[in-house]
Amino acid sequence: MVPRVIFGKGSFDQLGEILLPKRRHAEAPFIFLVDDVFEGRELAERIPLLFNDRIIFVSADEEPKTDQVDALVEKVRDDYGELPSGIVGIGGGTLMDLAKAVSILLTNKGGASQYQGWDLVRQPSVYHVGIPTISGTGAEVSRTTVLLGPEKKLGINSDYTTFDQVVLDPDLTQGVSKEQWFYTGMDCYIHCIESLQGTYLNAFSQSYGEKALDLCKEVYLGDISTEESREKLMMASWHGGMSIAYSQVGVAHAMSYGLGFVLGVRHGIGNCLVFQHLEEFYPEGVATFKEMQKKHGIVMPKGVCSDLTDDQFHTMISVAMGMVPLWENALGRHWREVVTPDKLEGIYRKI
Ligand code: NAD
Ligand code: ZN
Repeated sequence: MVPRVIFGKGSFDQLGEILLPKRRHAEAPFIFLVDDVFEGRELAERIPLLFNDRIIFVSADEEPKTDQVDALVEKVRDDYGELPSGIVGIGGGTLMDLAKAVSILLTNKGGASQYQGWDLVRQPSVYHVGIPTISGTGAEVSRTTVLLGPEKKLGINSDYTTFDQVVLDPDLTQGVSKEQWFYTGMDCYIHCIESLQGTYLNAFSQSYGEKALDLCKEVYLGDISTEESREKLMMASWHGGMSIAYSQVGVAHAMSYGLGFVLGVRHGIGNCLVFQHLEEFYPEGVATFKEMQKKHGIVMPKGVCSDLTDDQFHTMISVAMGMVPLWENALGRHWREVVTPDKLEGIYRKI
């Protein structure tokens, strides 16, 4: 679990104070990995730079890749004689994951792809702080960093992945487009449905999942102010992430990984594209999802898989079916009796 967290409007301004005791000395900088949407914007000016601290703006146009992590680590190593005091990630799930991965790879030998999997990281990572600017993924609280590698899209899941400190300032999520707000927020909603209906469910996950689900419904179906909605979605994301940390996600995520791998479709929208066709698995969840979609006038793209070759379908299906724990959580140990390549192809063809 994340050992330290602060929450509240304007809490970003406490960052300087939080980092000060973690500065080893003047030569060991803080590296701020910041979504480039903030380049030249007011938030970037509020970053409390000292000594030889550095801001590196990173685009979130594509999801994080293992070689991107390796390149960032090499840059930090080359530019400074020693390890930085810490890494601070500012942005959405993409930047959260990059900050986590870079902090791990600074102290662990080799490349990021070597650590994709469960508990492969041996050395504690560099101190790292997560500051989300969009809510939903739960990446700020989870013990994984999802990376696209040469062979697979898979997380580095370890106790050293989790942030040492998180700053939750709901004001930072202002400026997110309505579509992105919906897709990333629905990631949280889908985490709740998949966790609460999964066979891995336990009292720990259930307690967080139910709270997150209630908050999602308030945000997307209720009648609350935008300020309250920003605060509630930020807490929904946190609780949704806590819920899956001790259970697992399910069908939409497994199939969305396939879309991401073959077509580069991003996590939030990919989950939505799949989830709309999952009535068979999550009837109530899908009905409520469609209600939320209608209320906010979200029109999803169509024909996403229409030009795929047989080979591409094959790859997509095998990536999805390779996510064994997700299927096992969704449908139990005998999931292969229900989920066949033909069935998945049928769903993909509807997208
Ligand atoms: P993102 O980080 O990809 O950002 C989406 C878009 O929103 C980008 O264009 C970004 O520039 C923009 N944006 C972010 N904050 C903004 C702001 N305040 N104002 C204006 N624009 C803003 O989106 P995401 O959905 O948060 O993250 C998706 C990533 O998270 C994927 O790579 C996925 O694999 C990962 N993920 C990780 C976990 C985990 O536990 N580690 C869980 C779920 C998803
Ligand atoms: Zn997700």
